[in-house]
Amino acid sequence: MQQPINVFKFGGASLRDADAIRHVGTILDRFKDQRLVIIVSAMGKTTNALEEVANSYWNGKPDVAREKLGAIHAGATQAMKDLFAEVPEELTAAVNDLFVSVEWALEEDPNEEYDYDYDQIVSLGELISSHIVAAYLNRIGLPTSWLDARDVIQTDNTYREGWVKWPETVERAERLVPPLLDSTPFVLTQGFIGNTSENYTTTLGREGSDYSAAIFSYCLDVEAMSIWKDVPGVLTADPRYFENVTKIDRLSYREAIEMTYYGAKVIHPKTIKPLQNKSIPLYVRSFIEPDLEGTYVTDEAGDAYPPMVAVERDQALVNISTRDFSFVAEHHIKELFEHITTTRLQVNMMQNTAISFNVVVNDIDDRVERFCALVDQHFKTTIDRHLELITIRHYTPEIVDSLRRGKVNLLEGRLPLTLQMVVKDVPVIRRKKEEDVAL
Ligand code: ADP
Ligand code: ASP
Ligand code: MG
Repeated sequence: MQQPINVFKFGGASLRDADAIRHVGTILDRFKDQRLVIIVSAMGKTTNALEEVANSYWNGKPDVAREKLGAIHAGATQAMKDLFAEVPEELTAAVNDLFVSVEWALEEDPNEEYDYDYDQIVSLGELISSHIVAAYLNRIGLPTSWLDARDVIQTDNTYREGWVKWPETVERAERLVPPLLDSTPFVLTQGFIGNTSENYTTTLGREGSDYSAAIFSYCLDVEAMSIWKDVPGVLTADPRYFENVTKIDRLSYREAIEMTYYGAKVIHPKTIKPLQNKSIPLYVRSFIEPDLEGTYVTDEAGDAYPPMVAVERDQALVNISTRDFSFVAEHHIKELFEHITTTRLQVNMMQNTAISFNVVVNDIDDRVERFCALVDQHFKTTIDRHLELITIRHYTPEIVDSLRRGKVNLLEGRLPLTLQMVVKDVPVIRRKKEEDVAL
């Protein structure tokens, strides 16, 4: 019988530099007898650097864009030199060609749509890293086929947030991937990117490589998917901001969706649904300590859960009231939601009173301003920015109190298992030093 297929995903942190890629090689060496589809992100912070290229280009500074792109090219070249005693010629050629194609694009005037230009430039990161890692695995004796994810993942033309066309994507995955796995045990491809029916590159949204891995997992109905992270698994809160966090050994899909939707950044929120639809287990594991068990996400509920905290930053609270002081009725809400959809606001919380409607949204680009302008004829709006949305699953009075300390609570919602609050920092009033006070 044929070996089952597993999907592994390595993010930017695990591919930071040549040493990190070597370490990924040692992890993959343990699985050399398996059939693996490996999804990789761009190396380190390359995507952020490419965003800067896209922004400079769009803001009429092509020279700055070229300079920044040159720095990324130099970084990739250095990583290749560090990784290989002798860089394979085909690799140098493939990487150079990719950079040249973007350099040429920078010679042209920007397109009418920023999001389109963004995707054509920013997708470079995953294309480069996938060529480098695949060449390295082949060099260390792990036969690997390189696959262009755009031949598989088909999306609509919503640039920067491509919506997957599932039937087309499933058909392509089933047709293209198994033959490659027959010729080499590993197939390696890019996270984050897809393709429109007109053959233009799209991206699936920032941090979307986890989602790409779930798309491949779903299409190939794999045995399990593993995402290799710089943390031991899913923790009770983000260890960058909280102390005393503990690892959760088992998590249900539902719990994982609830936490990631509201900002537990360890898994991209769109990742869980495709896995759940086919009951494919997800392992969140540490690339730093690959022997540890990690977190196992499945259908089954875990034991009683401890309180878990997710924080979503850069939130805006938009207070909307009718200009004629009439009650906020269903037809108003319908109109508001039409504009919420067209401006692509993500609503994280809402609450209404008789004459006002409050929504808490991710404050991205100028979406909130565009929304307010669209509803201006019928509604007065005020915006409160730089807020945090704190979501606590399985909350206790102690944890709620400790998270509230030093914050002003602007909006709160409670359900039996979930408490959410929108907060901002309280400005702390301090006594001035005596010598600073002019008497
Ligand atoms: P990738 O390298 O795959 O892009 P990310 O950096 O996106 O990985 O995700 C890992 C990071 O997620 C961790 O370094 C951690 O700071 C953050 N994180 C946020 N919430 C949690 C959580 N509940 N548990 C674990 N890590 C979390
Ligand atoms: N490289 C992309 C990003 O940084 C996708 C990913 O890493 O998941 O957003
Ligand atoms: Mg990431």
